[in-house]
Amino acid sequence: MKIGIPRALFYFRYGRFWQQFFNHLGIETVVSPKTNKDLLDIGLKKVSSEICLPIKIVCGHLEWLKDKVDTIFLPRIVELNHGLYSCPKMIGIVDIARMQVGNQCQILSPKIKNNFIFAHFLLGLNLTKNPYKARKALNKALPYLNNHKTNVFDNHKPKILLLSHFYNLEDDFIGQDIKAAFIENGFAITTKEVLDQTILNSANGFAKNIQWIYERELYNAFHYNLTKVDGVCDIISFGCGPDSLVGEIMNQHANQNKVPFLQLIIDEHTSKTGLVTRIEAFSEIIKRKTYTTDLHK
Ligand code: SF4
Repeated sequence: MKIGIPRALFYFRYGRFWQQFFNHLGIETVVSPKTNKDLLDIGLKKVSSEICLPIKIVCGHLEWLKDKVDTIFLPRIVELNHGLYSCPKMIGIVDIARMQVGNQCQILSPKIKNNFIFAHFLLGLNLTKNPYKARKALNKALPYLNNHKTNVFDNHKPKILLLSHFYNLEDDFIGQDIKAAFIENGFAITTKEVLDQTILNSANGFAKNIQWIYERELYNAFHYNLTKVDGVCDIISFGCGPDSLVGEIMNQHANQNKVPFLQLIIDEHTSKTGLVTRIEAFSEIIKRKTYTTDLHK
């Protein structure tokens, strides 16, 4: 059996764990290549133009995988941490995938509802009929669940919080130009991925009203960093309801705290030149604000 894993969406949080898990079960895995223009163009033909960019990208990866493997792994992550849900498009991508690949290959999609670890154990058991092997593979893979990264800050540089979902920022096709533009403008970057999961999942304050798993992470990272950074850049996908709602709330909170806030809305038509121009203008605002504040000290 050969299992394909799309290098998109959940891959950027759980991909290393999944590769280790299947490999320790004795199953070969094939990960689709990094997102590129060709993969995106294929994805664009498979779904409605109204849908968000990350889902279009997944569809491109599915198309690449479908004639190279017997099975594509795409779990249906419904709920984590009791009361925190994936967005409807993340849940529905499994059905989109089934329609897209038809009989060409199987979609393996365990339903995950507050049972992330156990669902994987059951999956391993189902695939190998060997509880010992399933348990062992899970134990070997678990250390790879922690994607925690660290910041190494140059304290002389102004700091920017780049806020976006992991599947946007970690996918170089989407995130690389934005990160590079801030670095070229002299900023040190931080993201939510360097924060501990207890901070990201916290239900304190306004965060308790947010029931989407990954939107709560964004808001908590924003709230945690608000007094620690010189500016915030929120990158959201056109057509993403949760992002636009939470983004607007963060925008208001940033304004109240006089923290410069830039919202970049991305889709398949976004040009690098347009992004860089907006980032340069925003960088100038932050530098002038910092300079004026220093003058009044
Ligand atoms: S949260 Fe937004 S960007 Fe992410 S999959 Fe859902 S609609 Fe798309």
